[in-house]
Amino acid sequence: MLRKAEPVLEQVLNPMEVVRFATNGVRQLTWWLLTAGSMNPFANRTTLVLTDKRVLLIHTDSKQRPRMFANQLPLERIRATTGRNSYVFIRTGREQLMFHGVKRSEARQLRGLLDSTATKEGGWQNLCPRCFAATDGAPPSCEQCGEEFKSAKKATLRSLLFPGLGDFYLGYRKYAMLEIIGATLVWALFLSTLAPAVAAKGIEGALVAGPLFALVAFIHIGDALLTRAKAKTGLHSKDGALPTN
Ligand SMILES: [Zn+2]
Repeated sequence: MLRKAEPVLEQVLNPMEVVRFATNGVRQLTWWLLTAGSMNPFANRTTLVLTDKRVLLIHTDSKQRPRMFANQLPLERIRATTGRNSYVFIRTGREQLMFHGVKRSEARQLRGLLDSTATKEGGWQNLCPRCFAATDGAPPSCEQCGEEFKSAKKATLRSLLFPGLGDFYLGYRKYAMLEIIGATLVWALFLSTLAPAVAAKGIEGALVAGPLFALVAFIHIGDALLTRAKAKTGLHSKDGALPTN
C-alpha cells in the first residue's frame, strides 16, 4: 500500500521525515453516517500515513491508488485521539476526523502512536494535489504552483440543480452516474404521478404528487449538502489528480 502511495510520498515528505505507520481505510465526515453513509466507502478510501511530523491523508481509489486530494495534520495540532474497535478519531481545534475500515489491531496501534497530550491551535491542512504546498484554507488556486482548484460552491449548486452533477464536476464519475440514475427514477415517478392526476382533476390533482415532490426536493437538497461536504474535504485539482506513477 505504501508502494502505491509512493508517487505522492516522494513529493510530500521531507528528506529526513520518518514514516511510522501506514494503513488504508475509510474517512468519514460525522454526519455522512446519517445520509449516504452506505455509499461512503466508494468515494472516501484514504491512505493514512503517520510520520514523525504529521498525519498525512491521501485520498485513494478502492485499489489504494492515489486519486484526488491530500491533507495533513501537523502532530502538534492534535488535540485528542480516541476511538474503539476499528475506529480512530483524531480531534483538532475545529473538527474531528473519523477513520475506520482497518483491522482492529491496526487501529489500536495507530491510536497508541497518536496518543498525544498537546492542545494547540489549528487543524487539518489541505495539500495542493500538484506541488503539495500546505494551506490552512481552501484557496481558488495554489499560491506556490498556480494550480487551479474546483469550487465547492459550483459543485454544491450543480448538485442542487440535479443530484450527481456536482459529484461529476468534482471528478467522482461513477458515484455521480449512480446518483443521476437514482434521481432520474424519482423524477420519473414524480412526473408520472403528477401528470395523470392533473389531467384528471386539474390543479387540485397536483396534491396527489405532493409527497413525491417533497422526496424530490429532499434528494436535491441532501445531495447538494453532501457534495459541499465532499468538495470541502480537500483541494480538487481542475486538471488532474494525485500522481499515481
Ligand atoms: Zn501547488
